Amino acid sequence: MKVAIIGGGLSGVVCALQLQRYGVMADIFERNKKVAEPYRHVGAALEIALRPIKDPLEYLNEKYNIFLKSSGLVNKVIHNGPSTSSTITGNLGYFLIRGNHPASLVNHLIKDFKGKVYLSKEVDYKDLKKVYDLVIVASGYPTEAKDLGIWNDIIKMSVKGAVIDGNFDSDTFIVWINKDYCKSGYAYLSPFNNKEASLVLAVNDIQLDEIEKYWKKFIESEKLNYKVKESFKRVHYAGFMYPHKVDNVYFVGNASGCLDPLLGFGAFSCVVTASEAAKSIVYGTDYELAIKSVIDSNLKMLEFRKVFNKLNNKDYDLLIRSLGLPGINSLFYKWSKINVVNMGYSASKLLNKLLSDKT
Ligand SMILES: Cc1cc2nc3c(=O)[nH]c(=O)nc-3n(C[C@H](O)[C@H](O)[C@H](O)COP(=O)(O)OP(=O)(O)OC[C@H]3O[C@@H](n4cnc5c(N)ncnc54)[C@H](O)[C@@H]3O)c2cc1C
Repeated sequence: MKVAIIGGGLSGVVCALQLQRYGVMADIFERNKKVAEPYRHVGAALEIALRPIKDPLEYLNEKYNIFLKSSGLVNKVIHNGPSTSSTITGNLGYFLIRGNHPASLVNHLIKDFKGKVYLSKEVDYKDLKKVYDLVIVASGYPTEAKDLGIWNDIIKMSVKGAVIDGNFDSDTFIVWINKDYCKSGYAYLSPFNNKEASLVLAVNDIQLDEIEKYWKKFIESEKLNYKVKESFKRVHYAGFMYPHKVDNVYFVGNASGCLDPLLGFGAFSCVVTASEAAKSIVYGTDYELAIKSVIDSNLKMLEFRKVFNKLNNKDYDLLIRSLGLPGINSLFYKWSKINVVNMGYSASKLLNKLLSDKT
């Protein structure tokens, strides 16, 4: 069976590895000179967003035999609102190095792939599907799904990220929310180590060339005077699509709309969709059914997103203050049996109704 994979990002590489385990050697096509994003940054897998799964990396390793190598534990999250902040401590998740860095997830995983990787090769799924038995779209963008008319945008984020020098706590994730510089988006600082960190700003519903203006406001408002060593800009999309397989074309990772619409997390769902697509190809399992839990979870996150979009800076401060209250803090963060996504979904639905009745 001849299989082509569009994209050498996390989902493309995971799918190629899983197919290889089943005895199918796919060809990967990557438009950049190297696999993985052409910039480096540090992301996170936060346990609270993936419950009832207790340990997301252990789960992926056990269920899919995909080991996402973490660069460290998240033991502290500092939430900063417009004029208040709160800190949560505990076993909160993992830091994951991404992109163009020797220790990144993709650079770690690709070492096990024995098939062909065509670099600097931008391809079109319509051409590939004539030559290959199956095409996996792992392009990270909704281009192909939009072309097929099966995609609806939920949120479009313009993102600027930088690698900064400074003194950092290597187990601490810092988050900012403030309508003045990130609208309904967010900013965060995540460390590579004690001396280097990623600083990222994500602003919804703006053009990418406007991001500098918001970045300047962010840096000035938060009085951040770190030395910027390198930076990148890009857009990322969360959306809904159906179906996730059209003829001989499968969609995985961000290209399948699996980026969560609240926090912009996608690594977990990349592994799930890519692994399930490989299984479906080889064993004929129902791909839609296999990825339903990811889609359902994102639909729930969408309700949070709708509430979040309606909040103002005063509400943000209230939210941050509540997160710091010992009872709430223990309920959500420390008592890991609480399914925050399910609970928050019901509350968000109610809130969304109340807020729309008010307007
Ligand atoms: C700044 C930022 C921070 C993030 N932080 C987190 C985080 O903390 N936690 C988390 O879980 N997720 C995070 N994400 C989400 C992240 O995007 C996903 O987890 C994951 O990287 C998506 O992988 P992917 O393989 O689907 O797409 P990508 O990583 O975007 O890979 C797609 C690849 O396809 C290539 N490509 C596209 N079109 C073509 C074509 N026509 N021909 C050939 N090649 C093509 C691209 O060059 C790219 O290399 C973050 C995203 C961004 C942008």
